[in-house]
Amino acid sequence: MRVVITGAAGFIGSRFTEMLLEQADRLGYDDVVLLDALTYSGRRENIESALGDSRVRFVLGSITDADVTNDVVANAHAVVHFAAESHVDRSITGARTFFETNVLGTQQLLESARRNGVERFVHVSTDEVYGSIESGSWREDHLLEPNSPYSSSKAGSDLAALAYHRTYGLSVMVTRCSNNYGPRQFPEKVIPLFVTNLKDGHKVPLYGDGLNVRDWLHVDDHCRGVLLVLESGRAGEIYNIGGGTELTNRDLTDRLLALCGRDASMIEPVIDRLGHDRRYSVDWSKIKDELGYEPQVGFDEGLAATVQWYRDNEEWWRPLKERAS
Ligand code: NAD
Repeated sequence: MRVVITGAAGFIGSRFTEMLLEQADRLGYDDVVLLDALTYSGRRENIESALGDSRVRFVLGSITDADVTNDVVANAHAVVHFAAESHVDRSITGARTFFETNVLGTQQLLESARRNGVERFVHVSTDEVYGSIESGSWREDHLLEPNSPYSSSKAGSDLAALAYHRTYGLSVMVTRCSNNYGPRQFPEKVIPLFVTNLKDGHKVPLYGDGLNVRDWLHVDDHCRGVLLVLESGRAGEIYNIGGGTELTNRDLTDRLLALCGRDASMIEPVIDRLGHDRRYSVDWSKIKDELGYEPQVGFDEGLAATVQWYRDNEEWWRPLKERAS
């Protein structure tokens, strides 16, 4: 049976691929197709070990290309869709690609999936589609009030995915996860950016007053949640995936400074991000109650291991950081 993983060469998709391969026999997948356009954030080295597995085939191509999507989803049982433009700051300076990839690309993939009789389609989304919340947590039926070009393009893709379920009966599940951290995250995102800056003795840019709150989840826990939804999620349903570790950006920065043996003199306050959401908080009781999801990686232990990974894998991040600057 075939499963297609889009965006498999990115941060989360590559980890998901490894975890799916560990369970592929049990799930009945012996044909695992990795589709990725290898944009700046998609790295072939992220899937090097997966490519050594005889069940795996890599396809270099875009989800916006009908020939590509029709080819990969032909005879597929399932699609797990991670491919996206994913960095909020980039969406503020160049929104168009976000709508092309995230909205039109997702629609193209959905179209190929429904024409080819795909039986399970997991659309991986983000809690950022809900906007910002002062207190309490969002449930899955909360209004979508996205504020950035990134989150609005993801919201558009969520709605397209759900419409393909209602209109065509495609068996779509949508997941909305909080902020992920872990190995192989592109060094433009806050945790790898700060750790690698500190390693080089550079200051870390902290937006505004540093009091924006994010809920952090280890990438392994996100992937566990997506696997549960792939296996047992109900068609047409949305599942929030959260971690329960809410921190202000300042708190997070202080922890990273301590783990890197530095102090607050390394913080450089910078002008706030345009439209910066103040607080994200998802209520993930639905996936817990229905599918038995429970995060397994404690934040302190996960963060320390992540910092250590960037220390040990300089050859992975340094070329990316040099090219991006
Ligand atoms: P990433 O930027 O590391 O990876 C994205 C991958 O998609 C890359 O490999 C890239 O080459 C590929 N890609 C981009 N455009 C493509 C196209 N047109 N065709 C095929 N492949 C294309 O991002 P990530 O952090 O791994 O995020 C993966 C997914 O998870 C995204 O959909 C994102 O919205 C969602 N998500 C991320 C987080 C987070 O904290 N990182 C949280 C919640 C949800």
